Amino acid sequence: MGCMSKEHYQLVSNPLDDEEDVWVSHEPGVPESPYECAEVYPEAASSVRQLIKEAKAKILSLMEKRQCYMNAKISSNARWALTAFYVESPINELNERIEWWEKFLYFVRAGKNVGKGADLKVNIEKAKEVPIPHFIKFNGAGFAPCLWHSEKTGSMKYYAKGNRVWCYGACGRGGDVIDVVMQLRGVKFLDAVNFILNK
Ligand SMILES: [Zn+2]
Repeated sequence: MGCMSKEHYQLVSNPLDDEEDVWVSHEPGVPESPYECAEVYPEAASSVRQLIKEAKAKILSLMEKRQCYMNAKISSNARWALTAFYVESPINELNERIEWWEKFLYFVRAGKNVGKGADLKVNIEKAKEVPIPHFIKFNGAGFAPCLWHSEKTGSMKYYAKGNRVWCYGACGRGGDVIDVVMQLRGVKFLDAVNFILNK
């Protein structure tokens, strides 16, 4: 869609109005949190991946539209209003949806990998028992460079009893093996649990 397109300057309806919320139902009794939805309807994952793709494409086209408004010979008030209503607001709404969908996918994946409900609790406890030195090398005195702040000397100490680390340096942070793997690999909690259990 080029910038000359009339559509860009017409007061068209909000691009999201006609879109059906295909599976986030607001009927009573229907779960709305991404976690609950992942529990009851994991089969939606492939459609959700498609929805994310479409939403991202829509965001790109809205950004093009923003550029058109910037270049258009219109008053700055008109530019502000058009951009706010027809670019920024739908982009924010799309980003919120994408965030929700991505959480859903995360929980679907976690359900497959580390189980749900009681199984999940057992697996989390199992993961917590895997010794941190499986993932980090400590020196003879039990120290390693801190994971949470940048340093040359190691000020993060390992405590075998409790299987935890504690930083005596700049950040003073501590954590268990799940915190350690989350930080090492840049993953979320349940993905870290999965990684530890499969190590
Ligand atoms: Zn530190």
